[in-house]
Amino acid sequence: MKNKVIYPGSFDPPTNGHLDVIDRALTVFDKVIICIIVNPSKKTLFSADERKNMFNKIYSGDDRIEITSYSGLLVDFATEKRVNTVLRGLRAVSDFEYEFQMALMNMKLKPAVKTVYLMPSPEYTYLSSSLIKEVYSLGGDVRSFIPEVVEKYLHRKLAKKRKR
Ligand code: ADP
Repeated sequence: MKNKVIYPGSFDPPTNGHLDVIDRALTVFDKVIICIIVNPSKKTLFSADERKNMFNKIYSGDDRIEITSYSGLLVDFATEKRVNTVLRGLRAVSDFEYEFQMALMNMKLKPAVKTVYLMPSPEYTYLSSSLIKEVYSLGGDVRSFIPEVVEKYLHRKLAKKRKR
């Protein structure tokens, strides 16, 4: 049986920070299941399908990566997949409080669920999807922080917004 981990998140959009965490996870786990969590009350720039397509392009042909989206509780997804290990990234102390709450809540909901944390390479510690969207929308060059395909999606989305 393969050693699998679920990597849940908004990924709106995926950044090199997310990819760095996935690369690191692949040195520990055989398979990473990227789970785009769809939360109807959370407004996102990209639809779940767009986020899924971006990951599909980034990891095309890599059978160590599974890409899926889920609308519901992470612990239910874990039960469906029969995987009880969850991966999260830790950038700074500021992430800790929220991650601590989430991990404890998930453990309460399903005691078998364990959360593991990986730190990214230092150059990504200050990187977030929201910062990318903000800098990009103001015309900043974010190419060194995101995969090429994400830049294309951002470009298209921004062009569409400008036309409105
Ligand atoms: P969420 O809304 O679930 O926090 P994100 O897409 O912002 O979704 O993040 C998903 C996961 O990836 C979280 O564990 C987050 O801490 C981690 N993450 C986000 N950006 C980075 C980064 N630059 N380096 C390392 N981990 C990151």
